Amino acid sequence: MPAIGVLALQGDVREHRATLEGLGARVVEVRSPRDLDVIAGLVIPGGESTAILHLLVTSGVRAPLQERLNDGMPVLGTCAGMIVMARHVRDGRSDQWSFGSLDVTVRRNGYGRQVASFEADVALSSGGSIPGVFIRAPRIEEWGSGVEVLGTCNRGDGDAPVWVRDGSVWACSFHPELTADQTVHRTFLAAHGLL
Ligand code: GLN
Repeated sequence: MPAIGVLALQGDVREHRATLEGLGARVVEVRSPRDLDVIAGLVIPGGESTAILHLLVTSGVRAPLQERLNDGMPVLGTCAGMIVMARHVRDGRSDQWSFGSLDVTVRRNGYGRQVASFEADVALSSGGSIPGVFIRAPRIEEWGSGVEVLGTCNRGDGDAPVWVRDGSVWACSFHPELTADQTVHRTFLAAHGLL
C-alpha cells in the first residue's frame, strides 16, 4: 500500500496520524525533503500557518514539495494547512506566502476573534452532516469554478464552504482529526487509492 505523509513540522501531527492509522493507512511523518520520496499523498495539519511556512523553508521541504504539488500529488490541508495551500490569503503576515494550489481566497482567523473557536455541524453536499471543530479557523471568502464544495457551515449569515476539493487538493477550515468522525480522511484516502 502506498504511504501517506503527514507534514510534521508544527501542529497537530499526532491526531492526524492516529486518524489515518485508524483507517488502515500507512503513515510517514515528513520533516525533510527525503521523506517526500516515499509518499503518495500528504496531509498538512492545523497549527499556525506562519510557523509552518517558516519551517517549510528552513527544512528545505518547500521547493521539493512545490514540485510534487505541480506533479499533482494529492494533498489534504486542514485549517492552517488550508491557508498554506490557498491561492490567496487575506490578513496574512507581510511575509506570508502559500503554495497556491487550491483556487480559493481565505481570510485568516476569518470567523472573528470574539468567537475564535466553536463547534458546529458541517452539512455535507452528499447529504447528512459531520461535527466540525473550528479553532481560529480560516474562512473561505472566494473560490474558483473548478472548486467543488463538499461541506458547508451556516453561522447565521448563509451557507459558507468549509470543506472543498480542487482536483487533487482537498482542504477544510475545521479540524477533522479532533473528532471521532473519519469522513474527511476516509473520503480523501479512498479517492486517491491510499487505503
Ligand atoms: N489561525 C491559524 C493560522 O493562521 C490557523 C489555526 C489552526 O490551524 N487551528 O495559521
